[in-house]
Amino acid sequence: MVAVIAIDGPSGSGKSTVAHLVAEKQGWFYLNTGAMYRAVGLYLADNNIPCDDSAVKEEMLEAVDVDFDEEGRILLNKKDISGRILTPEAARHASDYSKLSAVRKLMTALQRKIGLSRPSVVEGRDIGTVVFPDADHKFFIVASPEERARRRYLQLKEKDPKTTITIEEILRRQQERDKQDAERALAPLKQAEDAILVDTTEKTIDEVVEEIMGRL
Ligand code: C5P
Repeated sequence: MVAVIAIDGPSGSGKSTVAHLVAEKQGWFYLNTGAMYRAVGLYLADNNIPCDDSAVKEEMLEAVDVDFDEEGRILLNKKDISGRILTPEAARHASDYSKLSAVRKLMTALQRKIGLSRPSVVEGRDIGTVVFPDADHKFFIVASPEERARRRYLQLKEKDPKTTITIEEILRRQQERDKQDAERALAPLKQAEDAILVDTTEKTIDEVVEEIMGRL
């Protein structure tokens, strides 16, 4: 098998930043599977498709092409949608539609295909448990809910200084999404038995990256 480092954890745990930096240090491809679920979620929501297994069939998803360009930007049917995927709405659609079996089946197959085409650092919720259970290295990244909401707030504020969203609102939505991700029947968010747990609450990004690099 081509080398894979699996990095899972809830949103705001720092896993995206860390996964990106580890990929850079290794000279490997960085595969952000959350971006893929956000892209499919946006496609289905834009087309007013009900969030339901009977409405979302595998054949319907044949029209959805999710990929990355050379610079790692997410493409939906060949169009760069990186500007849209970081919104709270995209996060909610991703969490809602990612429960559906046709969506998970398609995304899992695509992630395996992309991840196996070159050495990759793959980041998500079910990478170490479902997508790449035989990954060479597995990490599960966590942080306290308050710290995760604070980080997300700073991120949104940086992107849009006029945003009126509050940390409390982010915390509320985060709790909803965590619950939905952890309780769903298919590929729920959970630590693989052989994954190394890393708590980033009181650590800097550099410390976390160093810790992970030291375990490879
Ligand atoms: O990581 P990110 O916050 O971008 O993920 C958005 C949503 O996509 C998650 O809340 C989760 O519901 C879903 N997701 C998933 N499996 C993955 C990655 C993301 O179900 N491997």
